Amino acid sequence: MTGPRPILSKITRPNWPTGTTGTAGDDLVLSGKNFGKTPGAVKFGSTQAQVLTWSDTRITLKVPFRPDNRKTALTFPLLGFSSTNAPIISVFDHFMNGNLAFYKPNDGTVWAFSGEKGTSANPCPADSEAYAKDGGGAFTLNGEALYFGTQKCGTMYLQYDDHTGYDYSPHPGNAAMNRGIAILSAGGGTVRIPNQGTDSVYRNPERFNAIAVVHNNGFETWYLHPRKHLKTDGSSAYAGEAIAEIGCAGLKDCNEKKGVGPYHLHFEVRRIEQVEITVTTAVGLTSNSLSFTYNTPVDPYGWRGKTGDPYNKAINDRLW
Ligand SMILES: [Zn+2]
Repeated sequence: MTGPRPILSKITRPNWPTGTTGTAGDDLVLSGKNFGKTPGAVKFGSTQAQVLTWSDTRITLKVPFRPDNRKTALTFPLLGFSSTNAPIISVFDHFMNGNLAFYKPNDGTVWAFSGEKGTSANPCPADSEAYAKDGGGAFTLNGEALYFGTQKCGTMYLQYDDHTGYDYSPHPGNAAMNRGIAILSAGGGTVRIPNQGTDSVYRNPERFNAIAVVHNNGFETWYLHPRKHLKTDGSSAYAGEAIAEIGCAGLKDCNEKKGVGPYHLHFEVRRIEQVEITVTTAVGLTSNSLSFTYNTPVDPYGWRGKTGDPYNKAINDRLW
């Protein structure tokens, strides 16, 4: 049995500016023709996707999880001119079960890599960003208690819900002193200044004055809120090189002119992988391919909780 060759013409993500970037678990729509009426198969590279609906011109599916065995050569994110890492004031939230829009409506919980959980109804209703209240016990990292506290919420609240990175503060409790401290690249690579046109995974990346380093191992590191970039787009950076200065760009209550604001570094690691999507019909005819780029925030500290990792969109290898 044969038929006309299927044509894959367009990839879209509902309610998202571009369909060609995303991560596992995202909803995706494939448009084209000659898919047939009987469901066939869709592959991302060699990985088969879960198809939700199938018609002759439209397929909906979930972006499949991709196996990943790569390791990185990143170092700890370095801050300042000493070898001491800055204290962490917020963690990667392992309970992100929606798509990874930044600052999605929160579910009131924050899960640290250790399996510990912070909960709250809504301790900071006046703030547009989400917070989760520490459930009572301190979150720990390598046996050390994490720093808590925001300017809004007192001292026992852990920022933020649906948070895809780690916030570092060299001077926890005195954010103004963080201003201008050098941010050092966590690894060698090429500097990239993200912008909204090419980095739509973030709603408004330029709002945060982000600077990124593209490493040659499939990972990018992102540094948000700097007051100043020290490197330009396309330049190279070595591990430990100063690439920016800590600021509060894009954050509420940030006023650089007055030198006040929630100065800190948001550090994030993203796994980047480009794959080809192909459609194979029920009668075995395969379409052309279209490119899709996985852009997946990962927790560089991995997951050490006793139960399964609630953040199931990527293997969260411990990078260090
Ligand atoms: Zn952050």
